[in-house]
Amino acid sequence: MPGTLEHSLLAPSVWSSAYFDGRWIPGERTISVLEPATSSPLGRVGEVSCDAVDTLVGRATAGQVAWFGLSPDERAATLRRAAAILADSRDELVEMLIRETGGWRGKALAEFQAAVDELNYAASIPLEPEGVLLPSSVRGRKSMGRKIPLGVVGVITPWNFPLVLALRSVAPALAAGNAVVLKPDPQTAISGGVAIARALELAGLPEGAFILINGGAAVGEALTRAAGIRMITFTGSTAVGRQVGRTAGELLKKVSLELGGKSPFIVLDDADLDAAASAGAWNSFLHQGQICMAAGRHIVQGKVADAYVTKLAKKAEALRVGDPWREEVELGPIINDSQCARIAGIVEQSVAQGAQLVAGGTRQGRFYRPTVLTNVTPGMPAYDLEIFGPVAVVVTVEDDDQAIHVANDTEYGLSGAVRTASLDRGIYVAERVRSGMFHINDQTINDQAGVPFGGTGASGNGSRFGHPINHDEFTEWRWLTLGSGQKSYPY
Ligand code: NAD
Repeated sequence: MPGTLEHSLLAPSVWSSAYFDGRWIPGERTISVLEPATSSPLGRVGEVSCDAVDTLVGRATAGQVAWFGLSPDERAATLRRAAAILADSRDELVEMLIRETGGWRGKALAEFQAAVDELNYAASIPLEPEGVLLPSSVRGRKSMGRKIPLGVVGVITPWNFPLVLALRSVAPALAAGNAVVLKPDPQTAISGGVAIARALELAGLPEGAFILINGGAAVGEALTRAAGIRMITFTGSTAVGRQVGRTAGELLKKVSLELGGKSPFIVLDDADLDAAASAGAWNSFLHQGQICMAAGRHIVQGKVADAYVTKLAKKAEALRVGDPWREEVELGPIINDSQCARIAGIVEQSVAQGAQLVAGGTRQGRFYRPTVLTNVTPGMPAYDLEIFGPVAVVVTVEDDDQAIHVANDTEYGLSGAVRTASLDRGIYVAERVRSGMFHINDQTINDQAGVPFGGTGASGNGSRFGHPINHDEFTEWRWLTLGSGQKSYPY
């Protein structure tokens, strides 16, 4: 941890070895957060025991009352202050995002800005209409539908975009009048948890309205089960999302699941191939491919496949891989050794089954070279699985309909994109690919605070993030009537 941060948002003396329940409380045990590029420690956070989770959620239940008791203007102003505090901490947050996630500087800057945007968008929610005045079937009775907070919302997040993926739930959930208990991934507990707790603390959020707990799967499971949690928003793998969904369903809790992907990047035979190869390289290699919306398959028409692959491989070979904090590189390390071994295993097994390695396929420690695989067919792991690594998987098809078939040949449905000179062909494809998001003449990785973000199939359960959906997502409707007491009954 750099010693220069003592008077900053991330000053370790404030949060080191602690979790946050409105104050910084030393954990009985601690979790070490490591820099994936060097394995050196970035800090320690305080772990929470599973037994303590119910008590902490109870504290959030009380905190919610205080928070929702503030006027809408006060709640909006608190969120705007938190946005300004984050914005003022740009340099240290960007440094921590680079070092903690192993991401390229451009990715960290974009994530930082997106996180500030989430808070600013959310700050408008308290000032929006709270409901509707309904026609009443009873003379003299006023009938209203009102959006009310759910109570305490549990937020469980992954490591890859830790700051923005936490804030896209935390900010609107708070804005809608809920309290929040956040459990970030322990690998990125500083930018995914501490930074948010500090910004909200300094912004003057009432004690207990936001609680940060640290821990792994067991603590996430305890949070999902905690009696006081009315809604869970989970972002992460489909396998864990299914477990969270099962538990939440059994306990009748509202649940939002944003899960994995195998998004198609389709290149039709009339596409500008230089532009397509640039978009395709970005689509598979940005953040070492560790993005839910990354291109899972490059689906390329046969007529242009060789030319496209040549251009894509050239780009892959030119990219620099190394420590993104200390060196000028485009790709950093893979987040951990087991994920790096998994990526290598998928590539090796696919090659053993007949795929052709055109670029990359090598690694040094956690640093995996950007890789291009062709001749990939169904049944190979590179075709079937979400890789979550810098591997461009190229599948060749004959025509537009076969491209659509391959695009839909997956249980996932997060994002998608097509490159073509013909808008008509682009729309034909877009209307037939099953996904929550789709982009004509772009690539699959796109996000902003004011759009309906989310997937279908194994990529999610139909929940969406973004303005203006968030107000509905983080509240429930309540019917309220105001009568005069004069209504008569048969007995
Ligand atoms: P993961 O599912 O392993 O972990 C995510 C979070 O869940 C972590 O905080 C982890 O500690 C917690 N967790 C693990 N087991 C749990 C359990 N049984 N109960 C409750 N919580 C538990 O995911 P990951 O490997 O960190 O992230 C990568 C995955 O996330 C990829 O599949 C990626 O596509 C997906 N992802 C999706 C989106 C999206 O918006 N759709 C965004 C980013 C990442």
